[in-house]
Amino acid sequence: MTKTRDETRKQYERDWKAANAAKCREYRANWLAKQEPGYEEKRKEKYRNENRELLRKKATEYNRTHTEQHKKTGKKIRDELKKQTMNAYDGKCACCGETELAFLTIDHILNNGATHRRELREEHGKSFFGGTRFYHWLRDNNYPQEEYQCLCSNCNLGKRINDGICPHQQKKSDREAI
Ligand SMILES: [Zn+2]
Ligand SMILES: [Zn+2]
Repeated sequence: MTKTRDETRKQYERDWKAANAAKCREYRANWLAKQEPGYEEKRKEKYRNENRELLRKKATEYNRTHTEQHKKTGKKIRDELKKQTMNAYDGKCACCGETELAFLTIDHILNNGATHRRELREEHGKSFFGGTRFYHWLRDNNYPQEEYQCLCSNCNLGKRINDGICPHQQKKSDREAI
């Protein structure tokens, strides 16, 4: 298939721009400096508003073709948020001192977690817990210290199946009683 004259010209332009990228950037920066302040932001804003559909499609397509990258970025952001949350609660299990982020959870101290969880779920939707939204919620509420604490999943589970007190603590109090 032979290229039309128009295509040939466009290709030539692209090649020239690629070969003279630095010059183009400089030219554009100089030109921009002469425009009114905020020109570039306004232009971008306008473009975004006028191409919402297209940009959304492009983003979806990008995420589809960059799934691994996308997953990694998502995980990194979630881990960062989790770290931030746990650090607001001492950064370690309040019971056994575990610090491995992967093991840490946020525990409802007063053992009325179920009721409160239900309330939050009704208010914010089903996936509220286990998602990052709970961490956001804690942050937005300035990390309430009286109601929540950091526990590792072991102690959290231990507490749940042992009437609200982790077996670690029970052993301790049993020893103290002797
Ligand atoms: Zn623990
Ligand atoms: Zn424990």
